[in-house]
Amino acid sequence: MKVTVFGIGYVGLVQAAVLAEVGHDVMCVDIDENKVNALKKGNIPIFEPGLAPLVQKNYEAGNLHFTTNAKTGVEHGSIQFIAVGTPPDEDGSADLKYVTAVARTIAEYMIEHKIVIDKSTVPVGTADKVRDVMAAELRQRGCQLSFDVVSNPEFLKEGAAVADCMRPERIVLGTDNSAAIEPLRELYEPFNRNHDRMILMDIRSAELTKYAANCMLATKISFMNEMANLAELLGADIEKVRQGIGSDPRIGYHFIYPGSGYGGSCFPKDVQALIRTAEHIGYQPKLLQAVEQVNNQQKHKLAQFIQQHFGNDIQGKIFALWGLAFKPNTDDMREASSRVLMETLWQLGATVQAYDPEAMSEAQRIYGQRADLRLMGTKEAALQDADALVICTEWQNFRVPDFDLMKKTLKQPLIFDGRNLFDPDRLYARGFTYYAIGRGASV
Ligand code: NAD
Repeated sequence: MKVTVFGIGYVGLVQAAVLAEVGHDVMCVDIDENKVNALKKGNIPIFEPGLAPLVQKNYEAGNLHFTTNAKTGVEHGSIQFIAVGTPPDEDGSADLKYVTAVARTIAEYMIEHKIVIDKSTVPVGTADKVRDVMAAELRQRGCQLSFDVVSNPEFLKEGAAVADCMRPERIVLGTDNSAAIEPLRELYEPFNRNHDRMILMDIRSAELTKYAANCMLATKISFMNEMANLAELLGADIEKVRQGIGSDPRIGYHFIYPGSGYGGSCFPKDVQALIRTAEHIGYQPKLLQAVEQVNNQQKHKLAQFIQQHFGNDIQGKIFALWGLAFKPNTDDMREASSRVLMETLWQLGATVQAYDPEAMSEAQRIYGQRADLRLMGTKEAALQDADALVICTEWQNFRVPDFDLMKKTLKQPLIFDGRNLFDPDRLYARGFTYYAIGRGASV
């Protein structure tokens, strides 16, 4: 099938690549000329495991095309995906200007029926807005063309995005026209063979499903962080508590890890956007507000430990930082807890020596050259002459470091661990001072 994807970020590019991989003819449109040119040269602008070979292979095979020309994009696909960003507005609501701009563009250039699929995460009621914008544009052109708007939220996880799109747990489709379903069944057929993963519903429910999913996940994290803070004050170990509660299948072991707060491009903005949606309709979303507050506090947890340890004596200290990305297997630093930590340390006059397996260029892009940020080539180099190690991301290769080398390299054996990577007792036995999240019994 001929498909067009507007917006080739984490979602659009991965979706386009997997659709091309199963044989669809996919045209990618983005307004970012640098991105499009880089992709045409085989350079993938983001790090996502398995994505580069998939994009390169399908581009060379002629299944995947890149353009900045919106008209070419609209002409290409009978199915038009909108996968552009929906960043927070000034008040935290989702900013829909990119989504409506694409809707207008599609209506500007279409000359036959189109199915417009909204893949971006958008507030309930956005499909109506997309429809209104398109209808207005078509009226202005004096055209009477028909189109369908379908809500098809994306549930991929950064770091596992290709696998998630190749084998989705669910394909949520919200539409008010059952005739639009058949082409979408055909589009997704290759991903739907093992069992039917399609969940059909009305548009508003599909739009809310995405927010409900992300808010539920964020709630689990904030809940565990609150338990961790209590554990610390009560002299309990949250890691024992985690295993104790996870053994109940109604709770389960997934997604109940305490840490230094959730980040990324989705949870913070989606929780905030749903809060704003609720407030706009006169409902006070107390639970979601608490989820957000707990997370904002938790992002300061490591800096608090550091201040607790060093008192006012932080000026001029050097901190090794392992992990810049908001989670492993991505280079994405949007809303990462590492940023809150670094910015606090800088305010206190400290220097950060950071290492991340994938997010070094992103850190460079965000912070540029500054004397108090040294980007180091290896995790060991980051330790050199540092007063302590701080861990913000649970990359696999941080899990079993050479503790003897670490002891020799750091000025003192001191670790602030925002991801609970190590066994506290083992570290104490090796002579380390170890701060972790919610492990009060052992600290
Ligand atoms: P992104 O910022 O990585 O990419 C968005 C792209 O859209 C950019 O390349 C930008 O240049 C492009 N763009 C903006 N306006 C355009 C226009 N008029 N025409 C063509 N391209 C345009 O965003 P993302 O992380 O891929 O997220 C996209 C949407 O998907 C958001 O709504 C997000 O909430 C949602 N989502 C993201 C994830 C995730 O893990 N990143 C997961 C599920 C859903």
